[in-house]
Formats: sequence, C-alpha cells, structure tokens
Amino acid sequence: MSTTPDTLAPETAATEATTLTPVTIAYGDGIGPEIMEATLKILEAAGAPLRYDVIQVGKAVYEQGYTAGIAPEAWEIIRRNKVFLKAPITTPQGGGYKSLNVTIRKSLNLFANVRPSKSYAPYVASQHPGMNLTIIRENEEDLYAGIEHRQTPEVAQILKLITRPGSERIIRYAFEYARAYGRRKVTCMTKDNIMKITDGLFHRVFDEVAAEYPEIEHEHQIIDIGAARLAAQPEQFDVIVTLNLYGDILSDIASQIAGSVGLAGSANIGDEVAMFEAVHGSAPDIAGRDVANPSGLLVAATQMLVHIGHADVAERIKNAWLRTLEDGIHTADIYRPGLSHREVGTRAFTQAVIERLGERPRHLQPVTYRPGGIRVRARALPRPDKRFVGVDVFIDWDEAGRDPNAIGERLQAAANAVGWRLKMITNRGVKVYPDGLPETFCTDHWRCRFLPADGEETAFPRVLALLGAIHEAGFDVIKTEHLYTFDGERGYSLGQGE
Ligand code: NAD
Repeated sequence: MSTTPDTLAPETAATEATTLTPVTIAYGDGIGPEIMEATLKILEAAGAPLRYDVIQVGKAVYEQGYTAGIAPEAWEIIRRNKVFLKAPITTPQGGGYKSLNVTIRKSLNLFANVRPSKSYAPYVASQHPGMNLTIIRENEEDLYAGIEHRQTPEVAQILKLITRPGSERIIRYAFEYARAYGRRKVTCMTKDNIMKITDGLFHRVFDEVAAEYPEIEHEHQIIDIGAARLAAQPEQFDVIVTLNLYGDILSDIASQIAGSVGLAGSANIGDEVAMFEAVHGSAPDIAGRDVANPSGLLVAATQMLVHIGHADVAERIKNAWLRTLEDGIHTADIYRPGLSHREVGTRAFTQAVIERLGERPRHLQPVTYRPGGIRVRARALPRPDKRFVGVDVFIDWDEAGRDPNAIGERLQAAANAVGWRLKMITNRGVKVYPDGLPETFCTDHWRCRFLPADGEETAFPRVLALLGAIHEAGFDVIKTEHLYTFDGERGYSLGQGE
C-alpha cells in the first residue's frame, strides 16, 4: 500500500495517524545517533507532520555478515515508506564490503543526486562568499553502467550509455528543483563538442526541456571550461545539471571549495523512493561528545520536507537555522573567535535553532520554497523510423607490420564478393584507410566500416554473410556495431578524416 501524502489509501485516510507522512530513519554510526536525535527534535518542534520507522544500517549490520550494511527486512520498510532519512555510517575497513549508498541507489533506481553547496559568509568563514549552487547529477547511466571489455591484447573499452528517458528525467528534475527552490538559472555541462551523439543527446534534451520553463534562464557550458569556472568563480552558478561522471567530479570540487562540508545535505531521488543524508561521514573521532554539528542532516531533512510537499515546514526550519548561524551560535567545527558569538555543543545548538523557529535571518537571504513537492516523468515519444544502413566490424589484427593498406585491400576484396563496400578503416578513431597518413600510430584494434554496395538499406542476414566472408579471409572479428539512421538522421559518428 502506498502511503505518500498524495496517494493515501481511502480506508485509512480519515484517521489521525495517516495525516503524518511515514519516514524511514536510520541512526547510523559515530555521530549519527546524536545528529539524528537533534534533527528529529527540530522537526518535531517545527511541527513537521511526520512519523518514523527506524531501521538499522551500518557497522553493526555489516558485522552481522550483511555485505552491504543493510538487513533484508529493512528493504521492505524503505520501499513502503518511500522516504528515507539516513545518518552517516561507518564502513568497516577491509575487503568484501559493499557501499550501502551505491547499493541503495542502484537497487531503488535513485536517478538523481542533488547536492547544494552554499557559503554562509560572513557568519561562517568561506573563500567564496557568494557561492550558492546545487549540482544535480544523473546517478545511473553514463560510464557507471560498468560495461567494460578487453577486446585485444592492447585495447580495452567501456560503454558510455546515455538514454533519452534518463536524460529527460534528470533534466526535468533540475528545472522542477529550480522552480521549487526559487532558483533563476540552470546550467547544463557536457562535452558534446567531442561526444556529439551521447553528450549531444543530453544537450539536445536539455534545450527541449528548458523551452518548457521560460521563467528559468538556461545555458550550456562545455564541461572542461565549466569545471574550471566552477573552481574559480562558483558564484556564477545556480543549478548545474550534468551526466554521472562529470557530476561526480563537480560535486567534489564544489564541496571542497565551499569549505562547509559539515553544513551540507544531499539527496538521492528516484521515481518512488528518495534518500536524504548529510554529505559528511560518521566522524568517529568526535562521536558521543556532544560536539558534532547536526546541520548537514538537518539541511538534508529540509530537502526531504520540500520533496514530500511540506515546503512551509522546511522554510520555517531553514530560516531558524540561518538565523542561528547568523547569531554566531556555532558548533566547534565552524566556530571562529571574532566571527562567532558562542561555541556550543550539539544539544545547545539544537535548542538555539528551536528557539528561533518562526524567525528569519536578518542579513543572510531567507529561503522561500514553492509548495507542491517535486515529481517528474519523462514523456512517451513515438518511435522514430529506424533504418539499418551499414556496419562497423572491429578486428584484432597484428600482421604485415600493421600496414593499413594491407588489411584494407584484403577486407575490400572479401567484402566485394558478398555485395559490401569497405568505406574506411580507423584506428583509435583516426582514419587510416584509404589515404591514411604514415605517421598515425596503429594498435591491434581496427574499426572497419562497411556499407552495402547497392547503397540501399541492409538487413541482418547480409551482415552475417559479410562476417562469414571476413572470417573466411582469416580475420579475427571481435565485435560489430550496426549503423542506423533515425528519421533520416545519422545515428553514428564519422571517423576522424572520414
Ligand atoms: P568524516 O566526514 O566522517 O570526517 C572528516 C572530519 O570532519 C573529521 O575530523 C570529523 O570529525 C569532521 N566532521 C565530520 N562531520 C562533522 C560534523 N557533523 N560536525 C563536526 N565535525 C564533523 O569523514 P571520514 O573521517 O573520512 O569518514 C569516517 C567514516 O564515515 C568512514 O567509515 C567513512 O566510510 C564514513 N562515511 C560515511 C558516509 C555516509 O554514510 N554517507 C559518507 C562519508 C564517509
């Protein structure tokens, strides 16, 4: 039974208990229990309409022999409640343990990683006083699909998978996030000057979706210069949406330069389930001493409230928390003599936030969140007209001094006999036949592009005939890639120099 607020079951909707959104919580390890307790106290004082189911994750569960740090019965609770607030855990040292976060992210299809990085200068010391950005990283696709192959003695490859629905979902999420959080600009970062089809798809979908949000400014930057600008002038950015690998790197750059990792929360969002947590770890060095800063988990809890549609409570908490920072009431990690007013422990900090509920910061920008929560869905598009127009055959070849003309002429002859034409051969993407340059370095990995001699659409049996002929000619075929057009548009890249 789904129990999210927008889909309450009719038989229970009338009772008092179901007006509370059920949330799964885990106290975690190290400072986890202290900061979770602090966060729950503030949520309660702010009137957050939540109730909690507690699960155990982390060190003790790993030590019971569950290699991902989570017991089977906990999955059911996470899936039923759909919203999970998780304190940091300690990952045991040594081999054989899997990351709990990666396991949860992959198993529950949490496609978006959302990481705000903000400076609270001048109240908290920062090198970038104007920094206030959120990185929204695609979490499931790209090189992280983990499909790798070694194909020849010299060459290994990985598949970079970018999908239209996956791209649309994350990009739409970024714009909905911008709306919910009153952000003015979304920047997309890709390397589509090089990866025209994969990154190009992401960029194209970005332009399509952006057109539906005319009130939000949008721009695209090439990832290399974008990352450099992020490191040097983070105040230029507002919301950044990007692919998995780039997002992984950008998030760490942003955390590093924000200088306030102890204050940052992060969310992993899926269609069904979402997980919210602090960016920092379990800080075992300070556990149990009432000195930990609970802000990271508290900020994550406000992200959770916005996600499930309690923007008003999120606003109340965040503004009280900003006011506490502004009043100089600081835990040891951010306390600076001269800048701070009073050094406090976890409990006193929590109390100070509670006392300020209903107040707003006087100098820092107060937050306002749009009610309604964030939900996204990719559009269903008609399937385009797909035509099979050729094939790339990859060959492992280490003969004749790796002379491109030698392999080219032999393949040309084999192909001609079965109605195909060798269009070109590339080595590491550079055209080496026909008319290659003698300077080009050649490995043992040859990509040979064949087109039907009649120029018409082809079919799989004809490809099999071609592969048979190549095999008979003595070549070691290691893989093929079909060449398609979609609604007449080329669905494959050209070789350098083709
Ligand atoms: P850490 O973030 O726990 O600690 C780094 C430093 O920051 C320590 O000096 C710590 O005292 C301080 N610190 C962190 N959070 C703080 C807070 N809220 N208030 C005050 N000071 C704080 O990183 P670590 O030491 O590299 O990792 C410790 C453990 O946490 C490891 O087992 C690691 O695997 C785990 N970890 C878990 C998560 C997670 O659960 N999401 C994330 C990162 C690390």
